[in-house]
Amino acid sequence: MENIRQIFDFGWPYVRRYWGRLALGILLGVAFGLFNATFVWGTKTLFERLEPVESTMDVPHTNAVPGAWKAKLNALNDRVLAVADGWLPRVGVPLETKQIIGGLMFLPILVFLRSGIGYASVYCLGWVSEYAVRDIKLDAHKKLQGLSMDYFHARQLGDHTMLINRGAGSLHRCLTYGVADAIKEPFTILGLVAAMFLLDWELALFGILFAPLSVIPIYFVGRKLRRVAKVAYTKGTEQDSLMVEVYTNMRTIKAYGLERLQQSRFAEIYQKLARVGMKSLQARHLQNPVIELLSMFGAGVIILFVFHTGKSTPQLVGFLTGMIMLYQPIKKLGGINQYYQEASVGVGMLRTAFGTEPSVAEVTEAKALPRLREGLKFEVVDFSYGDEPVLRGLDVELPKGTKLGVVGESGAGKSTLVSLLLRFYDPTAGSITIDGADIREASLESLRGQMALVSQEIVIFNQSVADNIACGKLDATREDIIAAAKAANAHEFIEGLPEGYDTHLGEQGTRLSGGQRQRIAIARAFVREAPILILDEATASLDSKAEAEVQGAIDRLEEGRTVVCVAHRLSTLRGMDRIIVLEAGRVVETGGFAELMERNGAFAAMARKQGITSSSA
Ligand code: ADP
Repeated sequence: MENIRQIFDFGWPYVRRYWGRLALGILLGVAFGLFNATFVWGTKTLFERLEPVESTMDVPHTNAVPGAWKAKLNALNDRVLAVADGWLPRVGVPLETKQIIGGLMFLPILVFLRSGIGYASVYCLGWVSEYAVRDIKLDAHKKLQGLSMDYFHARQLGDHTMLINRGAGSLHRCLTYGVADAIKEPFTILGLVAAMFLLDWELALFGILFAPLSVIPIYFVGRKLRRVAKVAYTKGTEQDSLMVEVYTNMRTIKAYGLERLQQSRFAEIYQKLARVGMKSLQARHLQNPVIELLSMFGAGVIILFVFHTGKSTPQLVGFLTGMIMLYQPIKKLGGINQYYQEASVGVGMLRTAFGTEPSVAEVTEAKALPRLREGLKFEVVDFSYGDEPVLRGLDVELPKGTKLGVVGESGAGKSTLVSLLLRFYDPTAGSITIDGADIREASLESLRGQMALVSQEIVIFNQSVADNIACGKLDATREDIIAAAKAANAHEFIEGLPEGYDTHLGEQGTRLSGGQRQRIAIARAFVREAPILILDEATASLDSKAEAEVQGAIDRLEEGRTVVCVAHRLSTLRGMDRIIVLEAGRVVETGGFAELMERNGAFAAMARKQGITSSSA
């Protein structure tokens, strides 16, 4: 029950938005459920006419439940029968056209009405479910995109796909089928049981004797399914992550002949998925035979009782119809339970994600940061991802329009410095200010809007060239885009693409060379017109020819901007006004390129390793 309550608590705010359709769907579902009772009445009515009774009104109401409302129902029944009498065939009376039509149409009309109501109910509830799940997925994306980088570092891609696809998917199934059935089926049971009691309460009592026992398999199967669903989610996450890993790195996999290794990783996951799939299938399909068996015990008892007491055939037939119909909704309720158990795991995942707070959040009254006027400053900044300090007492000032080079061995903390400036993380101590204002006080949009990042991982979206450049500034015009591409030395090759700026680049821009992709990324930085430029090993992944093409574009991009340039290749730092050398998170040297070379310290040592000497500087 706790699970169902959690699903309800989570889903209700979304479902409630569509209350009109929801209410209509529920009402129709109730009507559908109760309408099933007419089949008990219908079959009994038909079979009564097989017996040579003078008039339907003379049918004895054996063991009838007394009471005023019962009398009213009987009166209604009699009135309906009085109308139907002319339309229905009767044993011993010659058939007329009217009765042939009536005989043919009696059950189809009941079924048509029942199905029509059922369809309308499912339509309304399905509509609510589709749109509620759309909203949930959108909210989940919004939530995820609002979380900080630490959340993403701690997770695999499969976690996100599982959350959106299967977490929300299980809720979707639960809302679409589970809710509709959860409304229809109990009322079907209620309607059928009521009809059976109205017909004959003793028979009804014996017939449904075994029904409560159905709860036992439903309970155990539900528990098992939830356990299995948890394993399936974990394995599904691994599967999705591995898929992304493998198919985005096909070059390396082929080059190293890793196909078979990857295949064995897939095989392991799929083996486990097949096993949990079978467990789930077993649990699901063992439930129904048990319920069916119980229903047949019920039918057996009725048959015995009817023979024992000598009740009429119409009653027996009406009852058996009721019995057979009764265990259908019970089976369905078992099925709904399966949806709920699986959805409870999905909702658990969604609730955890929705309950996560970004570690880097905006303050309540975050100020919009005006465009850079004076400069930026790191003031005694300490930072650590966990226990180990990564940056220690970092004190750097960067007046507007100056260029700062950041160098250091791998792991020295260079990228971390950039991450702090972009406020992917907050310093553990100290502060970073822009024009004297702490960046923690600023809105994230206005802060990041001042910066353009060109990094070693070149991101090309699965969109057109123009759209890829316009990512830098969403309202960029075509003129802005072309101007940016020209500045980035990209215009020419873009024009040479099959559809120019409208050429679709495909995932990760596989149609382009590394240098071309980087020039598109630089055009994106140009169009942004941001005063602060962050270059994070922008040319590190390029060969020397591509580097030469890109470097020209970068030099132009640096003009008039405040630049933070992280570089491994020290020769790219000649134009910097100042360079800081990081070692284990501390600044160990600072100065201009020539000055540092002359000092013959850590920087000069690194430069020598790259074949740069003071004389060549
Ligand atoms: P650099 O860019 O100079 O190579 P980084 O700033 O990437 O160095 O990393 C500095 C240190 O922080 C390294 O020891 C690295 O292992 C650690 N580190 C980097 N990113 C993370 C992270 N997301 N979680 C934990 N530790 C990290």
